[in-house]
Amino acid sequence: MIQLYIPLNFLGVLYREIKQNLTDLDRMFALMEREREIADAPGARPLMLPDGDATVRFEHVAFAYEPARTILHGVSFEVPSGKTVAVVGPSGSGKSTLARLLYRFYDVQQGRITIGGQDTRDVTQASLRQAIGIVPQDTVLFNDTIEYNIAYGRPGASHEEVVAAAQAARIHDFIVSTPQGYETMVGERGLKLSGGEKQRVAIARTLLKNPPVLIFDEATSALDSANERAIQAELRRAAQGKTTLVIAHRLSTVVDAHEILVLDNGVIIERGTHAQLLERGARYAQMWALQRSAEAEPTNEIVGK
Ligand code: ADP
Ligand code: MG
Repeated sequence: MIQLYIPLNFLGVLYREIKQNLTDLDRMFALMEREREIADAPGARPLMLPDGDATVRFEHVAFAYEPARTILHGVSFEVPSGKTVAVVGPSGSGKSTLARLLYRFYDVQQGRITIGGQDTRDVTQASLRQAIGIVPQDTVLFNDTIEYNIAYGRPGASHEEVVAAAQAARIHDFIVSTPQGYETMVGERGLKLSGGEKQRVAIARTLLKNPPVLIFDEATSALDSANERAIQAELRRAAQGKTTLVIAHRLSTVVDAHEILVLDNGVIIERGTHAQLLERGARYAQMWALQRSAEAEPTNEIVGK
């Protein structure tokens, strides 16, 4: 019995190991599939941003994940170089899809997206992704150390730079409290981080990367309100002079935006500054009033009045 037990147990371990590797292989093939779909065009050249003009333009962009269901119906807008444009709207309206298209996880079906006047399909993906920092709604971390996960934003960054970014993203104290600090392994096969902790790692990574174009997709939605306020201030500072697309769930964070777009069912139904949209008294004004009254509701927080 014992003789049999040992090999079987060993096989069990082996089986689990193989199964895990197969899952990884599955993922890898899924990623490769995506990469094949979104390949560099023949003769693609690096994105060039001479004179620092990193204007982002969406021109009549139409997009569907599946042919039967169009998600974006001819969306046009511009984020002038160095300015911040905000996108608000109900869940499912297509906001994250705008972010994914700009980062070129997918190609548009109609229209085009340009950065500094260059179609994102004509430049190398490496150079495009070099120029853009994205804090997505759901961050996936690498099965590697926290240090690696942050430094990934800028390979070659010094430990001090990694720490400074972690401090700005309010994740440093958490990191030094983990068993091996910055060397702690995270991800599926390491320390599991909460949604808010992952979000702060992604913010640290993006602050460290410091690229000319920024995308914040509900970047602080998983944070508690104290952390959210603190990090919003850091993000505002990071966005100074950068071409920034902010997808916001909390309208109070976009009042200063150069332009606010209200997206509904893949169509921009209103656009303007905060003041213009309030003046208009339509959808944005309603959303604003709703959030205001929700925030004014009595809570356990002490409001200094
Ligand atoms: P938002 O960020 O405004 O909540 P999304 O851009 O994430 O909206 O999604 C817009 C629509 O596209 C939703 O109806 C969503 O179900 C659909 N969608 C998102 N991702 C995919 C996908 N990978 N495949 C198919 N449909 C998708
Ligand atoms: Mg979204």
